[in-house]
Amino acid sequence: MLSGEEAARRVQGLAVKYTGIEELVKRYDHLDRVLLTASTVIQNLDVLTELENRRNEVEAELRQLREARQQELQSIINVPTPAKVRVHTSLKAHKDTLAINEGVRLFTNLTTHPAIEGRQVRIEAQFPNRSGVLRSQYVGFSTIRMTPGEDASTILHELGHWLEDMDKRILKQSLAFLKRRAGTEPTECLRDLTGNPHYGADERAWKDKFLDPYMGKDYHGEASEILSMGMEYLYRYPQLFAQHDPEYFAFVYNRLRGR
Ligand SMILES: [Zn+2]
Repeated sequence: MLSGEEAARRVQGLAVKYTGIEELVKRYDHLDRVLLTASTVIQNLDVLTELENRRNEVEAELRQLREARQQELQSIINVPTPAKVRVHTSLKAHKDTLAINEGVRLFTNLTTHPAIEGRQVRIEAQFPNRSGVLRSQYVGFSTIRMTPGEDASTILHELGHWLEDMDKRILKQSLAFLKRRAGTEPTECLRDLTGNPHYGADERAWKDKFLDPYMGKDYHGEASEILSMGMEYLYRYPQLFAQHDPEYFAFVYNRLRGR
């Protein structure tokens, strides 16, 4: 089994192995621009068809390379035997059940943790609070409140909070990780760190060198965003994550395997 550190190195290595993708993107864009200009001035259909064929060849090659990279990425990041969890939801809209199913699939592909194996998680609809704010959240007791219309990555994120709650060791380790990373740095308002006025005035985080300031959110020892945000980044931006924060990448990778 790969260690988190080794997994991060392998993902970094893929960026080198697939540098050809960047070259192909440039060639594709170039051919596309040429074709666009040519189609307004060239009347000769053969020339245009030839250009179009070349562009399509590049596109096919690009698709192949991207698929190969994606497969390699998944073989590193996903666990060989996804966790089996049961989901009970009160949301009925087709779009929401699709997002839930997909979110659960993304989550279980990333983890094989004994603390959640065979367990049930409830996903209920979230209703606006007094200030009209609707934000999906994990509320404890294996229950997620989901804002209708949310996407699968939100479900993945909230399931990360569930896992952190089911295995308190993860919470402890995450808090220790956060403390070590932040050092003596004071917390700052998330509003200031992100420029997003929707954060509450009391929502604070350690900026550290996190890719996203929300990763360092301070919950006064009750919870953390380390696992949830880490899972989102493993799924969405694995290469960026492995390159810019291999330590965090490895931390999440190992926790997801119950280590
Ligand atoms: Zn969260």
